Amino acid sequence: MGHSSEDAAHSRRSHYFYALFPTMKLLQDKVALITGASRGIGEAIALKFAEHGANVAFTYLSSDERAAALEGRLAAFGVKAKAFKSDAAQFSAAEALANEVVKEFGTIDVCVNNAGISRDNLLLRLSEEQWDEVMTANLKSVYNLTKQVIRPMMKARKGSIINMSSIVGVAGNGGQSAYAASKAGIIGFTKSIALELGSRNIRCNAIAPGFIETDMTHYLKDGGAEQWFSKIPLARFGKPEEIADVALFLASDMSSYVSGQVISACGGMNT
Ligand code: NAP
Repeated sequence: MGHSSEDAAHSRRSHYFYALFPTMKLLQDKVALITGASRGIGEAIALKFAEHGANVAFTYLSSDERAAALEGRLAAFGVKAKAFKSDAAQFSAAEALANEVVKEFGTIDVCVNNAGISRDNLLLRLSEEQWDEVMTANLKSVYNLTKQVIRPMMKARKGSIINMSSIVGVAGNGGQSAYAASKAGIIGFTKSIALELGSRNIRCNAIAPGFIETDMTHYLKDGGAEQWFSKIPLARFGKPEEIADVALFLASDMSSYVSGQVISACGGMNT
């Protein structure tokens, strides 16, 4: 068969496929719990998961209006969606959250520990309070909720846990020692949980984004984004949706043999 007739046959097959299955839903009827989804990367993940048929429970800290609006946008995909105002830094809040989600949604198939903050300062000026704030919100938060969600996952003998690390946790960054330490800690935690719970069919992976266009990186753009582009082979910041695509892969059965990994999505910065 010549190349062009193969192409034509392929295009006919694709046409029939998409006519029959307009969108292939990768998370149909799964229950996902996503922390910090009122803005930025978490919001993009929540929308992507709902588009792919997941029922979505998500948390936020203070953005009441944005959270209520997102609930509506998620429900428009025909899935169950609910916002929970829950501080990821609080152990007891994580316990209450997981219990409520299981009560309302039946189980938890996917947990995305995404909530996080940055408090950038050179070590000389970094206060003990700033260090503690970052470590608690970024690292202890991952322990808090993972400890809770593994209960329903062990019962169901399946689960996917996705932790939001950062390229800064892999490579370090001057002025971000606390943030980098918290994100590196997440990687060690992720690998350990993958080892501990693999035999229960629970997978645990981390995503290490580079610079993504959200509120967290606005200040970089104000300082002139172009100076950063020279360090990024793809010569641009990433979009939250591009991180959501990686999370979709890790949440779905497409990654059924992937565990204990750190997937960089950084425009090629980390090679
Ligand atoms: P963002 O735009 O600042 O949004 C942060 C989200 O987390 C908001 O929904 C916020 O809720 C929530 N949040 C913060 N602290 C919380 C807490 N204690 N409890 C519950 N929710 C909390 O951040 P982002 O850029 O999307 O970042 C999301 C994750 O990706 C973070 O872990 C970040 O470290 C990581 N990351 C980001 C980048 C980047 O370039 N943007 C790169 C690498 C890694 P409210 O709206 O209520 O405040």
